[in-house]
Amino acid sequence: MSDYINRRLGLKLLLSYLVVIFVGILVLLIASQFAVPSAFGRHMIGMGRMMGQGPGAGQGAGQGLGPGQSEMSADLYREFRLSFFEALKYAVFAAIIAAVAVGIFFSRRVIAPLRAVMAATQHISDGHYDERVQVDGTDEISQLAAHFNQMAEKLEQVESMRRRLIGDVAHELRTPLTVIKGSMEGLMDGVLPAASETYSEIHRETERLNHLVDDLQELSRVEARAYQMDVRSVDVSNLVATVVKRLGHQFDDKRVTLTSNLPRDPMQVLADEDRAIQILTNLISNSLQYTPSGGQVSLDVSRAGNEAQFRVKDTGIGIPAEHLTHIFDRFYRVDKSRSRQNGGGSGIGLAIARHLVEAQGGRIWAESAGESKGSVFAFTLPLVK
Ligand code: ADP
Repeated sequence: MSDYINRRLGLKLLLSYLVVIFVGILVLLIASQFAVPSAFGRHMIGMGRMMGQGPGAGQGAGQGLGPGQSEMSADLYREFRLSFFEALKYAVFAAIIAAVAVGIFFSRRVIAPLRAVMAATQHISDGHYDERVQVDGTDEISQLAAHFNQMAEKLEQVESMRRRLIGDVAHELRTPLTVIKGSMEGLMDGVLPAASETYSEIHRETERLNHLVDDLQELSRVEARAYQMDVRSVDVSNLVATVVKRLGHQFDDKRVTLTSNLPRDPMQVLADEDRAIQILTNLISNSLQYTPSGGQVSLDVSRAGNEAQFRVKDTGIGIPAEHLTHIFDRFYRVDKSRSRQNGGGSGIGLAIARHLVEAQGGRIWAESAGESKGSVFAFTLPLVK
């Protein structure tokens, strides 16, 4: 029985209303036991005075009256008591019925939204992430329902991201695997010559797979924030010098010029040095990748309020306007075939860069006047005050 009650909040609420009513009745009964005789006596004295009795009339039911009157008063008191308790009995009965009715009404009002949340929770745990609860009002239960809906929305987003991620990864793996498989079959059947080009092709695709796995591993670490961030004061000129030195050879090889412009005053940013180098390397490598020989890439750093703004500008293939906002989504490539021809990756680099910039309190964005009009990739990092 107690288990049955324990599992039903509505019943508990109803019982709590009834307990309140019973306590009220008990107090009423005890109080009336004490208060009724003296109140009756007081009123009888008042009545005696009105009927011409002297002021010295006594206290209590029937006290200080003549023998006949005293007996009458006692009878009167007894009758009064009986009628009082009879009336009280009806009142108690009516109060209990009213309490049960009001209790059921309010318990239902409280329980119904909780039941809805409970049903929705069950639905979500069964994998139906589109489940939502109706929110009426602003009380705590409505707030619970609103928070529940927010949580459900987040879960739905995470679930759809997970699905998309699996789809994207499968898609990215398929292309190199198909090439490798095709080449191997060609070799086995003797259709393809056992020449170095065939092996180079297979090697290139395995390299691509390797790259993809590395990128995915890095992306998952960055997205899960499963890395140490060593934020400290970093000198911008050192940062730029390191990156320029590291990439210089590749620029020379492709005959693309790389220049850097820094403000005259020394500038310190609050950042993790390795991560800042990683972001710059990624953006400048992209610029090199998407800029034909003879082109130019420049890295400009300037002060913008309490931030340092880094701008990587190239004279490369540019980005059509409709892609600019998506370019930082993972696996997003403006033109997949173009990216592949250019030896491009899987569209993970900029997603990692965005995470790293945002984790250091900055913003990142891309600008381009359109196809073959060059691009600018800019990001900010907080300046040391
Ligand atoms: P990827 O490894 O494919 O280069 P990224 O995330 O680094 O992946 O870049 C995503 C896409 O953004 C690229 O596939 C390319 O289409 C475009 N992109 C990036 N940088 C440039 C650039 N400097 N100029 C033109 N397009 C660019």
